[in-house]
Amino acid sequence: MTANLLDFDLEGLAAFCEGLGEKRFRATQLFRWIHQRGARDFDQMTDLAKSLREKLKTSARLQDLPVLSQHESADGTIKWLFDVGNGDAVEAVFIPEDDRGTLCVSSQAGCAVGCRFCSTGHQGFSRNLGTGEIVAQLWFAEHFLRRHLNTAERVISNVVMMGMGEPLQNYSALVPALKVMLDDHGYGLSRRRVTVSTSGVVPMMDRLGQDCPVALAVSLHAPNDALRDNLVPLNRKYPLAELLDACNRYLQHAPRDFITFEYCMLDGVNDLPEHARQLVDLVRTHAGTGVSCKLNLIPFNPFPQSGLTRSPNSQVTAFAKILSDAGIVTTVRKTRGDDIDAACGQLAGDVKDRTRVDQRIARQRTVILKQVPAAPAAAKETGPS
Ligand code: SAH
Ligand code: SF4
Repeated sequence: MTANLLDFDLEGLAAFCEGLGEKRFRATQLFRWIHQRGARDFDQMTDLAKSLREKLKTSARLQDLPVLSQHESADGTIKWLFDVGNGDAVEAVFIPEDDRGTLCVSSQAGCAVGCRFCSTGHQGFSRNLGTGEIVAQLWFAEHFLRRHLNTAERVISNVVMMGMGEPLQNYSALVPALKVMLDDHGYGLSRRRVTVSTSGVVPMMDRLGQDCPVALAVSLHAPNDALRDNLVPLNRKYPLAELLDACNRYLQHAPRDFITFEYCMLDGVNDLPEHARQLVDLVRTHAGTGVSCKLNLIPFNPFPQSGLTRSPNSQVTAFAKILSDAGIVTTVRKTRGDDIDAACGQLAGDVKDRTRVDQRIARQRTVILKQVPAAPAAAKETGPS
């Protein structure tokens, strides 16, 4: 089996090149060809010796993810559905804004945490993505967008690990992928512009702080344990007090001096004024010092099986006002890509039933081949390496 070069951070690629009897600096050249220039064919890499190119042809490959579908929203948001084999699909979403381009990336097919308000959670867990499958989403999106927008400049300036899956339950694949994003020879993103979002896997938050401290978002969703136990089952293992302690430890390493708390606004469940007051109290007084944070309120994106509804705007505004009046920086997330189901928690929302996935994948495969000739041809192999 040949090695998938998207599986390697620069260190890993250097070790691979050494294994081929090549100098380590060759790895830098190769890495730049792949990630900065989007090359997929070794013959394109003209400054590499022909002998190295020949070795690479027999020992390495660049395995991208077949695109099953691509949808572009009226607001410029683009959503891709990628085939990861065995009837599983994951999504990535590009969100253009005036001053940045953000890619929302998936880390797992499905998710084992099972939050009540999340369609990925309802779908259950299929498997972890490999490093190469996480990186492939960025590699594909960046180079597709450059062609699509006809620019040689970098298009994606920010990555948020907020697609499908709990990134900190796929730690060993996540960290090398983050390193590829951060590497100056890779995508060169600053630590402040790469965000890992977690439902609160406390031990892994500590490890991330040590190994690769990027910006951190913590999905809070409730101001007390009773409610959070119900909405985010992982809270029974790592309750709020432990989670907030971990946030404070993370802040000692973080590239920003605050944690972003995400809070999904569920009508009548967690959106009452008393919840807002409890939240203020919690983040202000925890462990005596509180937690330096910003609050990001996310209007719930409903899906049929959840039995939950989105908080009315008036309720969201009232909730935000209580937080802001207490001096907590609070934003309400704009819902983007509504018309293409690209909003949070809607990713691959109806892929629960395996039979339907297979049918849909077959259907979408036909559609993509007909409609999106601009996308690079889908790779034949679909499984991870
Ligand atoms: N597993 C990680 C990252 C993926 S979810 C986490 O939970 O943080 C990314 C964000 O989308 C999380 O804050 C999550 O709570 C939120 N989310 C999930 N389902 C949602 C829905 N239906 N409506 C709005 N936000 C949702
Ligand atoms: Fe998993 Fe995050 Fe969805 Fe919870 S919100 S089920 S942790 S993807």
